[in-house]
Amino acid sequence: MIDLHTHTVFSDGELIPAELTRRAAVTGYRAIAITDHGDFSNLDFIIPRMMRVAAELGEAWGLTVIAGIELTHVPPSQIADAVKEARELGAKLVVCHGETLVEPVALGTNRAAIEAGVDILAHPGLITDEEVALAAERGICLELTTRKGHSLSNGHVARLAGAHGAPLVLNTDSHAPGDLAPLSMARRIALGAGLSEDAFAQLRLNAESLVLKAGGDIEHHKTEGI
Ligand SMILES: [Zn+2]
Ligand SMILES: [Zn+2]
Repeated sequence: MIDLHTHTVFSDGELIPAELTRRAAVTGYRAIAITDHGDFSNLDFIIPRMMRVAAELGEAWGLTVIAGIELTHVPPSQIADAVKEARELGAKLVVCHGETLVEPVALGTNRAAIEAGVDILAHPGLITDEEVALAAERGICLELTTRKGHSLSNGHVARLAGAHGAPLVLNTDSHAPGDLAPLSMARRIALGAGLSEDAFAQLRLNAESLVLKAGGDIEHHKTEGI
């Protein structure tokens, strides 16, 4: 399992990075990105701290740990600057909290995130054909999610991504220990959103590409005691 969207106590998650990554390893993960909620108030607080622990925890637990960020409710006009600042601070993976059906995310967030070149547009809700086509052109991954509420539009996102050739990934958006999911569950949720087995295989390759782009190792899985 490769999961590129999770939270710790550095935003509204329940676990510190050491426990989240240990539990991920025991769940069978090959790679995990920690992507706490960020805006201009805290990017310089969160990102260096994740970078401080990512490599050492990954080495200890036998998986790749990626220091990322989820830009969350940043006004669309400020998203490009936030992406730039996050990358300058060293974030290896930039996720944007998209226009989920279950929160009042500002209209225009999906488009601004795609134009700003985020790595993953998370839970993009009722994303439009035009936006999905733009994501395909720019190689921006759209997210299917196991997360309650955000997952309500998985079918819509999967259908449009298939129609326009936009890359997909599937993440858990974990906030608590029980949110982490093994690959078997990820597969079932992807198929439930309408993906074929081939499309799910491609989704896994897309996640591997992001791990490699972030400087990680996808073969890395050696957790004992699982
Ligand atoms: Zn989010
Ligand atoms: Zn999230």
